[in-house]
Amino acid sequence: MLNTKTAKKIAYVVNTVMLLMVFGLMAFFKLLDADFLVYFSIPTALVYVISYFLVYTDHLEIYLWFCYCWLVLYMAVTTVFLGESYGFHLYCFSMIPVVYVVEYMSFRIGRKGVKALYISIIIALIYFVFMSYVMVNGPIYDRGKKYAPFFWIFNSLTVFGYLVIYTNYLIRNIIKSEKKLSEMAHRDRLTKLYNRHYMLEKLSELPEGGKPDILAMVDIDDFKKINDTYGHNAGDEVLKVISSKMTASCEGCVIARWGGEEFLILCQDDEQLSHEMLDKMRAGIGSEPVVFEDSSIKVTITVGMSRRNSGDTIDEWIHQIDKKLYKGKKSGKNRVVV
Ligand code: GH3
Ligand code: MG
Ligand code: MG
Repeated sequence: MLNTKTAKKIAYVVNTVMLLMVFGLMAFFKLLDADFLVYFSIPTALVYVISYFLVYTDHLEIYLWFCYCWLVLYMAVTTVFLGESYGFHLYCFSMIPVVYVVEYMSFRIGRKGVKALYISIIIALIYFVFMSYVMVNGPIYDRGKKYAPFFWIFNSLTVFGYLVIYTNYLIRNIIKSEKKLSEMAHRDRLTKLYNRHYMLEKLSELPEGGKPDILAMVDIDDFKKINDTYGHNAGDEVLKVISSKMTASCEGCVIARWGGEEFLILCQDDEQLSHEMLDKMRAGIGSEPVVFEDSSIKVTITVGMSRRNSGDTIDEWIHQIDKKLYKGKKSGKNRVVV
């Protein structure tokens, strides 16, 4: 996600925009003859100048809270002096997501940060206090409504824009990481094929009496010997290479690592085509050794395959192809048994 370098860059940009806005508002307050707000802009500008230093010295957390508290104060002061028709109070609503992001960031880096819920309640309380004051007493400066609509529109658009862009970004990220997590949960880490859990899920979803589904069990021959001769790392490389060869050969099939050096392939084609495809795959694997470091490792596979008999449970179906695989092993390996 966000690293410190990017966070610092964003902080510099935000800080500069804020500082320019402070000067712009300062000029406007002068135009309104709102002296207090002109003077109040001086410490506000100072806050952003100090912020550059805080960001530069890597005190991002202090920077964030420092600006955050000052912004709340700024909103309260401008609303009390000019009235709610200028729309400065709207920023209170956009402050809430920020504090939740800070809580999330703290969680991500393993720190016990502030509780966003408490800060949100405090913001709401401050909002009600200063809004009630203005509602009851009216603004301290009564400068008419000449410039208010401009500010109200600008502030409303900024708050809406921010909330829409931010929420959109957040939801897209959640969807992306959920997809990634579910993909990771379904995959075997070494071979990147689907795992046993996913295959069982897929098999259980197959409709009874649907398409003629064909299931094949693939087992690498004498894999223990490969491990013993070339080492466990070579064995791992063989598993990876064989997996990618199977994926390339069986387009449209679901392939899973069923156990150590055993794989299940679910095809939804007709039996003849599946047999041809699997035998071609077997021949291809047997004719091209796996290269690992300085070794060229000859690998063969034995395959048992079968269509699902009507009325068979998934376990019975798997048992049936297991028996065919066993037959293939007994009769000399490196073959497809139908
Ligand atoms: P057969 O031809 O009858 O299938 O014999 P085999 O040696 O292939 O089968 P066996 O069941 O005797 O041995 C399987 C070996 O696979 C044993 C186990 O150590 C190895 N194995 C299982 N998972 C992994 C793995 O992730 N990486 C490596 N390198 N080896 C594994
Ligand atoms: Mg084996
Ligand atoms: Mg085996």
